Amino acid sequence: MASSKNEKGKKVIIVGGGLVGALNACFLAKRGFQVEVYERRPDIRTQEVVKGRSINLALSCRGREALRAVGLEEKITGEGIPMFARMIHNLDGSKKSIPYGKRDQSIMSVDRRHLNELLLSAAEKYDNVTLHFNHKITRCDFEKPQATFLREDEGTTVEVPGDLIMGCDGAYSSVRQQLMKTTRFDFSQEYIPHGYLELSIPANKQNEYAMELNYLHIWPRNTFMMIALPNPDKTFVGTLFMPFKIFDSIKTNDDLMKFFKDKFPDSIPLMGEEALKESYFRVKALPLVSIKCSPYHVSDKAVLMGDAAHAMVPFYGQGMNCGFEDCLVFDGIMTKYKNDFSKVLPEYTDTRNIDAKAMCDLAMYNYIEMRESVNSKMFLLRKHVDNM
Ligand code: FAD
Repeated sequence: MASSKNEKGKKVIIVGGGLVGALNACFLAKRGFQVEVYERRPDIRTQEVVKGRSINLALSCRGREALRAVGLEEKITGEGIPMFARMIHNLDGSKKSIPYGKRDQSIMSVDRRHLNELLLSAAEKYDNVTLHFNHKITRCDFEKPQATFLREDEGTTVEVPGDLIMGCDGAYSSVRQQLMKTTRFDFSQEYIPHGYLELSIPANKQNEYAMELNYLHIWPRNTFMMIALPNPDKTFVGTLFMPFKIFDSIKTNDDLMKFFKDKFPDSIPLMGEEALKESYFRVKALPLVSIKCSPYHVSDKAVLMGDAAHAMVPFYGQGMNCGFEDCLVFDGIMTKYKNDFSKVLPEYTDTRNIDAKAMCDLAMYNYIEMRESVNSKMFLLRKHVDNM
């Protein structure tokens, strides 16, 4: 793929080949930088099973705009499933739908692994991008700058000098940990009392979707909730969000079935009793963390993006979208300052930090809206007026 020649020779080291790192590689390659992506995991495109977080994600406007800028929007949305409304599942088995916007407006359900694979392959198409897998960052020297990686498969260490280090290594970012050793770096994290666990809703006996397709299904139960997003293979992935206290109190198959019969009775025939028991006890519920930090950069040598900069709880469906938008915002500032990192990085922190922190707060608020306020009369009335 063609790239501009003006930055040929300058090297950007991207740490993390997840969603944001892989997209960032496309943006920087287009500008003509030599881009090297270092990812801790093996190449997911060659793996049978990939361990990790949520199986599918909601892609919205914010993320689509960033994908459009590198010519990937159509490819990715073409493989996603539009969700035009929430479908609320009441305790008595009745359902009601609440649109997200006007008739043709939707968010998209996309498969996380497939999306990551598409982004890695798109990055690799640029001649000036190299992907390195099984490379775990262990140290950053922000003066030079230089990054040290452990090749976990070989047990060897590699030192990589460059012009800019981009930390796209997720919520538990090692680059951020190194940044915390620099002076006047603010950091806060908050684990919420709730965790999440994924459950599957298979295709029905006619090999069709077991529920209405173009919806984000929600079972709001005030202090906890379950949601489900559709996949192209006619299944749904359900995610149960609830306090660890409740997860811990469910110890046996009988406890589980009593809980589901009380709280989510309509979901039992959809999942199947045996499958529900099997998948509930197979894995442990995972924690949810919200992270804020500032600044996002060190001089003109390093910058954090995506969850490394602003992990948020998933209830606003904006973590990835916000990370994709980081790439777009950064790209705009690069244009403004003609790729001069000494001007770009401080302005990136100044403009992005306040917005990303607001997104973290909105995500926290939306948990209350999703599990509780969607049940209230005021919410329904407001939505009705919004859609008139
Ligand atoms: P990651 O996806 O975490 O990628 C980081 C990469 O860095 C990984 O590949 C990792 O292996 C690599 N890495 C880590 N450490 C190192 C190291 N030391 N050296 C080298 N590489 C390293 N967002 C949405 O927009 N919509 C949703 O619907 C949505 N739903 C979600 C549901 C759940 C249950 C959860 C938990 C999150 C959800 N999110 C959603 C948030 C979304 O998953 C994240 O915001 C997104 O994955 C962030 O991308 P990232 O590339 O910054 O980080």
